[in-house]
Amino acid sequence: MAKAKRSLIMPYEAAGLQRAAADFVTKCTRADLTGASKDMLLRLKKKVPFYQDDRTTYDFYLNTISDWIPQRHLVQQDLIKISNDIIENCNSELRTREKSGQRESKRHGTYLHPTDSAIIMRDMNSYDAEKSVTLEFKPKWLWQSPTAPPKATRCRTCALRAQRKSKGEKESKTHGVLCPLVISTGKPDYIRDVVTQLVDNPSNYVGTALPRWLADRHATNGTNGQAHDNGPKSRHDLIEKLCHHFSRDTSREKRHGEGYHVLQGLQFLQQRLDKHGILHRQPTSDFLLAMTLRDCSLYVQVHWDSQRVESRLGDLDPKVSKGGKLEQWRETEQSLLDGGWYYAAEGDETCLLSRQARPVIPLQSPASSRRPSCAPS
Ligand SMILES: [Zn+2]
Repeated sequence: MAKAKRSLIMPYEAAGLQRAAADFVTKCTRADLTGASKDMLLRLKKKVPFYQDDRTTYDFYLNTISDWIPQRHLVQQDLIKISNDIIENCNSELRTREKSGQRESKRHGTYLHPTDSAIIMRDMNSYDAEKSVTLEFKPKWLWQSPTAPPKATRCRTCALRAQRKSKGEKESKTHGVLCPLVISTGKPDYIRDVVTQLVDNPSNYVGTALPRWLADRHATNGTNGQAHDNGPKSRHDLIEKLCHHFSRDTSREKRHGEGYHVLQGLQFLQQRLDKHGILHRQPTSDFLLAMTLRDCSLYVQVHWDSQRVESRLGDLDPKVSKGGKLEQWRETEQSLLDGGWYYAAEGDETCLLSRQARPVIPLQSPASSRRPSCAPS
């Protein structure tokens, strides 16, 4: 029997929080959309060709995403009613900024879409590095593309990164994490490299809080910052916490890190929801959900006082195959196949698959090589 759809705006009504939601909007100003509490953000969407209203987005979050992913692994969202005044105020602010040169010229002429409801979400930014830091990255394709060659030595994400690099395209944040398959293994000796790269890149931090050691290093052009490399709240401390967070526990207790659980769940869903790829089939709702899960963001927040590390997924908007998207997905996949991008160059062991494909040399010392993992091939 089909499950009854949960109705929109219910969480606020049910919890008697409609008043709070109204207060939230009242306290938002044109320059500050975080309300008074600073722990929730109001999300307003621009008027773009693929605009989807917030009721659709929230319905997808509430009735699809929440069925597959536990709440503790999601950035909390709610839908609230708003009046159009706030949109008009914000658009007026954008026009003022355009005139005074404070808005990038490529954004000129794009304004917020009128709406009577909007999503508020937990603010995952960190504002005080002494209390917490937040890193954001896109896990991307945690399972190989179903249409990749069977003997591929690069996963979908590594193949696309290599193709883009060859065209001289800048490394974007969305492809900034080393091989997604590596981090999803949960093997401490594998994930340390990925975690270290994440931690050392200032653009992975969200909010105004850069850890002290990174801020120092930044301020002195990379020549200093060693003083805070050890001890609590240090680079070393952060790397250790994140390595533990993404690690698989091989002991009998099986106390895996919470981040490992999140990535495993995501990997399982990506595999289950898209078994055939998009080259020769029409997109199904499962496929579109898989595409959402291949493009979502992971927010990892480290709370220094409680020692708690949270991993929550956001940017989970529904995907549509209209307006050239379907053709774009197919074209990308076909160009990776045609250009041979699924095969790593000699000596390139960025991708887990290329490490697994390395010929086994008999009598090699185990300490001198990385062992193959059980990750997908
Ligand atoms: Zn890879």
